[in-house]
Amino acid sequence: MASMMFTDCSSSTTSRLFHLNRRNGTSLLRQCVGQLRFQTTASGRGCIRSSSSPISAISVILVGDRKDSATYVRNKKKACDSVGIKSFEVCVAEDSSEEEVLRSVSGFNDDPSVHGILVQLPLPSHMDEQNILNAVSIEKDVDGFHPLNIGRLAMRGREPLFVPCTPKGCIELLHRYNIGIKGKRAVVIGRSNIVGMPAALLLQREDATVTIIHSRTKNPEEITREADIIISAVGQANMVRGSWIKPGAVIIDVGINPVEDSSAARGYRLVGDICYEEASKVASAITPVPGGVGPMTIAMLLSNTLKSAKRIHNFQ
Ligand code: NAP
Repeated sequence: MASMMFTDCSSSTTSRLFHLNRRNGTSLLRQCVGQLRFQTTASGRGCIRSSSSPISAISVILVGDRKDSATYVRNKKKACDSVGIKSFEVCVAEDSSEEEVLRSVSGFNDDPSVHGILVQLPLPSHMDEQNILNAVSIEKDVDGFHPLNIGRLAMRGREPLFVPCTPKGCIELLHRYNIGIKGKRAVVIGRSNIVGMPAALLLQREDATVTIIHSRTKNPEEITREADIIISAVGQANMVRGSWIKPGAVIIDVGINPVEDSSAARGYRLVGDICYEEASKVASAITPVPGGVGPMTIAMLLSNTLKSAKRIHNFQ
């Protein structure tokens, strides 16, 4: 069965049907941000006008010196630059106290020029992640991790101010490729607060019938084989094999797993949770790793920041 690939067409020869890629995602955002540039009036009141100074601004708090976190932050800042969103970064030493991080969060909460606050996870083990995420103002919670935002996401008839970026990017991909969700059987593999759980909530809000698989699930293969849509966020290289997949299923692979590869310059390459070789022969659509969900996550962060700036400046 021919597979459709959600991918960057510039880097793939197998992309035949649809071409939603990094560049398209970012250029769309650039258009939106272009509408939203402002000058401050003499009276100091913010107003929306055409000017070259960017209105949206995001502050990133990076704690410790994890290389992967530093890379993620660098990529996010680069993406902000590319669409005219201003970004500030605060680096806090690994052995700092939780209070120091809380002070930075509080400063950004009070700063009217900051529209989004992002605390790069994971935090060092001596810090209480919950305390720190709870301290981010819900109006600036562009990562969507505040319990009030997650709680609203889980409740019918309530709207979160922000939806977590990775799951939001997964759903956006389904929408952009006109893949119906309503009434479909969806399986989410993984139940983390940042990906699996919100992805399942989002699918349910779109009227899919959702099953969540986790590390204690019996017969994950059998359950996954029933799915029309699979979102996998586990962190285990190539765990989902071709035999787990119903012919024609749509697969969103969130996993990013390094595997040894002596032929690669860095000695490793990145693969997803899904065994791509096998799955692409069975599925009707699949996201590649890298280049599938990753760029969407960053695009959704920009989108959330823009949404926040628009709300704060009362811009429709
Ligand atoms: P996580 O917090 O470690 O959660 C992993 C989830 O997978 C847990 O719910 C765990 O179950 C479940 N799990 C582990 N082994 C399993 C198994 N053998 N069978 C079924 N379920 C299993 O990870 P995460 O933060 O959600 O991230 C997951 C993956 O996505 C990672 O590879 C990460 O790098 C990647 N990621 C990518 C992006 C992106 O932008 N592309 C963003 C975030 C994360 P229990 O709950 O029972 O422990």
